[in-house]
Amino acid sequence: MRIGIDLDNTIVCYDGLFHQVAVRRGLIPSDVATDKQAVRDFLRADGRNDQWTELQGSVYGIAMSGAKPFPGFAEFLAQATSSGSDIFVISHRTRFPYAGPRYDLHQAAREWLAENVKELCEQRVFLEETLEAKLQRISTQRCDVFIDDLPELLLHAEFPAQVERICFDPANGCSGAGVECAASWQDLIARCFRGTEA
Ligand SMILES: [Mg+2]
Repeated sequence: MRIGIDLDNTIVCYDGLFHQVAVRRGLIPSDVATDKQAVRDFLRADGRNDQWTELQGSVYGIAMSGAKPFPGFAEFLAQATSSGSDIFVISHRTRFPYAGPRYDLHQAAREWLAENVKELCEQRVFLEETLEAKLQRISTQRCDVFIDDLPELLLHAEFPAQVERICFDPANGCSGAGVECAASWQDLIARCFRGTEA
């Protein structure tokens, strides 16, 4: 099986990191809830959307080394290897942030993968600058299945029809995405490798 996987918020878990960086920079009080959405909502409700944009640039760039893989991802990778499946990381990430210091976001992503997902060789990592290029890559890598946290991508009109799509949605327990969902990597292990063991 050829399995394509998104990077941000699918493999990389930023829970707590947005909060941590925002508090450290004095952008939010520490009693704001620690998830990404709460930090975003707090800044937006306060009319500070530009600070939110800049914060994203930092978290996906210079601060990315503070993020961890989602629980269960390492086991998923091990299962993929032992079942002979091919894994491809296919991400949509601009090279530089929309605002703030010009961190190289592709470099940050590659360094994070080298540190946290050592089993995955560089040739299997595709960082695309546009959504269209990402959709194209999912097609040209001939993925059987693609896992992403964004229903918008999976339900996109240009999403290759032959590819099975699974939405990774640990926060909301898969409510109303309009597409098949998984709540955890354990769930994905069961779904992708059930019955493939010798
Ligand atoms: Mg994502």
